[in-house]
Amino acid sequence: MSSSQSSAVPSHAVAIIGGATAGAEVADRLAKAGVEVYVLDQNPRPYGKIEDGLPRWHSALRNKEYANIREKLDQPGVHFLPNTKVGKDVSFDALAKEWGFSAVVLACGAWRDRPLPVPNADDYVGKGLLYQNPFIIAFNHKGDPHYTGEHYESMDGAVVVGGGLASIDVAKVLSLEVAQKALAARGHHVEDLEEFEKKGIPKQLEELGLKYEDLGLKGLTLLYRRNPEDMPLMAEPPDATPERMEKVKASRKKILEKAMEKFCFTFEGLSAPEKLIIEEGRVAGLVARKVRQEGKKLVPTDELNEYRTPLIVSSIGSIPEPMPGLKMNGELFPFTDWDLGRLDGYPNVFSAGNVVTGKGNIIASRKHASQIGEHLVEQFLGLGDPAGRKAAEEELFEGVASKARAQAEGIAKAVAAAPRITEAALTEVRRRARVQQDKVGFKGSFSDWIAKVSG
Ligand SMILES: Cc1cc2nc3c(=O)[nH]c(=O)nc-3n(C[C@H](O)[C@H](O)[C@H](O)COP(=O)(O)OP(=O)(O)OC[C@H]3O[C@@H](n4cnc5c(N)ncnc54)[C@H](O)[C@@H]3O)c2cc1C
Repeated sequence: MSSSQSSAVPSHAVAIIGGATAGAEVADRLAKAGVEVYVLDQNPRPYGKIEDGLPRWHSALRNKEYANIREKLDQPGVHFLPNTKVGKDVSFDALAKEWGFSAVVLACGAWRDRPLPVPNADDYVGKGLLYQNPFIIAFNHKGDPHYTGEHYESMDGAVVVGGGLASIDVAKVLSLEVAQKALAARGHHVEDLEEFEKKGIPKQLEELGLKYEDLGLKGLTLLYRRNPEDMPLMAEPPDATPERMEKVKASRKKILEKAMEKFCFTFEGLSAPEKLIIEEGRVAGLVARKVRQEGKKLVPTDELNEYRTPLIVSSIGSIPEPMPGLKMNGELFPFTDWDLGRLDGYPNVFSAGNVVTGKGNIIASRKHASQIGEHLVEQFLGLGDPAGRKAAEEELFEGVASKARAQAEGIAKAVAAAPRITEAALTEVRRRARVQQDKVGFKGSFSDWIAKVSG
């Protein structure tokens, strides 16, 4: 199987779909309890959103979490099946019902972009319309010799549709890359984007004796359907007093203003995308309808605005991808038990991580999101003192990791209560896993594999 085959007879065998933050936590907890674990990941590397959701300037947190995930997966009794997308390369039903596993754990995160609510959006993906997940994946893999996916070009005058933290990340990537190109055209080669992000655009320009206006750029617009005060950059504390709520709203506005200043983009609130402007088979712009807010309700007005742009990036939320064979309830899996992520009709299936929160962002991933203060969000977005950033990121991450640990604990207890795996079932699990590993060319140990697909 691999060099990590344990010599003791395992009590159970469990498949984990997804080997990132949540999957690795569950794998670790189960392996330490004497369970034989099979981690199936669609990607060559098991780092999930840490690799492909966080823009690459969070390098300190990334390196730490990469090491953490590797340590958890590189231990006796844990077997890795990379490049294996469940639902495509292996059927979910077969995994849950035929391989012989004692249990299957969904730890596959939230990788589907919520569709942009305008007619025919799907027809223009890649023709001027992009979604946040593939956009950030491509950005993070620029220069990665192992990356085989699409690459996209940041364009001046882009429109980002969104309002959460991830939409600000997208706006930052676009603004920085466009400014980088404009500077290069003037003979100033700002190669290190991570340094550029830390400094911000105005400071970098000042050092070069320039102003933003000198670049002759149109700049990008972040379009949001509500007001800055409503942006989900900070969670609404439960039972917040009106005074507390006012403070949260003021913080959200301040965070947005700082981001706009440091990364030179503009904001248009109370604007709901209505339709794409198409010319010669490509996106040439977006029409947005002004809305009015009545309490939490948005009321459409008669005012329509046209945004002429060659590029729209939609960043309105990440949700779980449907798993062929499993029913969804709207955007989510219909869990009957949200603590253990259990599903009707699959008594041996559990879930952990973003697939259960149903959203792919820190606010949603944290158990006590309302405790994330303005300072932490500013640090995360690169708006505070760079010296404090690493500690703030780690604090944010600890909130997510501790939730995954609690889920892993619950799943381990439920697995321990299940009947021991039979020898025949274990033999079949091992045989099928070996066939799949051979198919994807996995040989040797986990660390051999990681070395092969990294660097
Ligand atoms: C500081 C900080 C910043 C964050 N910023 C962001 C952010 O910008 N964007 C964001 O989305 N989240 C962000 N998060 C939240 C992040 O998503 C969670 O912290 C955490 O990484 C989610 O872990 P997960 O294991 O549930 O999901 P993921 O990290 O998404 O991992 C899921 C894994 O499952 C695999 N997988 C998916 N489908 C399949 C399948 N069908 N078959 C096999 N494998 C599959 C994936 O390849 C992946 O490895 C942030 C968190 C922190 C702490």
